[in-house]
Amino acid sequence: MSFPIHRPRRLRTNKVVRDMVRETNLTQNDLIYPMFVTFGKGVKKKISSMPGCSQMSVDEIVKEAQNAYKLGIPAIILFGIPEHKDDKGTEAYNPKGVVQTAIKAIKDKVPDLVVITDVCMCEYMSHGHCGVIKNGKILNDPTLELLAKEALSHAKAGADIVAPSDMMDGRIMAIRTILDENGFDNIPIISYAAKYASAFYAPFREAAESTPSFGDRRSYQMDPANRREAIKEVALDIEEGADIVMVKPALSYMDIISDVKDTFDVPVAAYNVSGEYSMVKAAAKLGWIDETRVMMEILTSLKRAGADLILTYHAIDAAKELDK
Ligand SMILES: [Zn+2]
Repeated sequence: MSFPIHRPRRLRTNKVVRDMVRETNLTQNDLIYPMFVTFGKGVKKKISSMPGCSQMSVDEIVKEAQNAYKLGIPAIILFGIPEHKDDKGTEAYNPKGVVQTAIKAIKDKVPDLVVITDVCMCEYMSHGHCGVIKNGKILNDPTLELLAKEALSHAKAGADIVAPSDMMDGRIMAIRTILDENGFDNIPIISYAAKYASAFYAPFREAAESTPSFGDRRSYQMDPANRREAIKEVALDIEEGADIVMVKPALSYMDIISDVKDTFDVPVAAYNVSGEYSMVKAAAKLGWIDETRVMMEILTSLKRAGADLILTYHAIDAAKELDK
């Protein structure tokens, strides 16, 4: 069973044959485009550490959502940058908050675009942590109530899917319960189930203005060294009612994506995070890599590893490339 009978190169002879035997085909349907909505009007504020991405006011984000939809991207995920932050994260569940207003405006203009919302407190808390704080500690159970309120307010505004990213224990059940009690039993939950305390998030903090004012997120997000624990986290979230589970970040965590895909029968999402995106942009700017080829290779490899859905800031560029 070896050479010269077997010559794997036979199936690589030309593009047509290579295309015929390709195992993984990336399509626009795999992509979810993350967007940052801020207050004001006519605002399109470039995020310097994430070239190509901007914070946008509601009027501008509607235009960008239309653009994404036209390119065949089926879904976006919204992150909010409120005008005021406080220690209760009030703006997170304000029916007139930035995210709630953006959901309505987008669904009004592009009803078939799936609008997912990030559910977390860090963008709305004056201290930048994902939960309620007392005596310097991030409290789990009191945070659940706020997250549930936030998710409900997104659903009421018309969100199609909610996606809690906080990593508090028990949040999926808290959100599922409040949604069901209020007649939103058909709204799916994407849980950021295996979310690691990663240095790859750095550019996002500029984008979402959510840098913690003290300490770090290691008391709630996972240790990057842990693999088995991801299975435990995902199992708990599925038990609590998660419809789709996410691994975040993506590139350094492909083993986790693969494990989760092999172990569970729910769709798996992977978040190709800001640092992964910005490294490609930076290297391309220096002329060290071919940006388009590297982008397509990364996204394809995430799908190959087991991701059914990929959240990526490359979504617009990738969708254009897939159209060629
Ligand atoms: Zn957070």
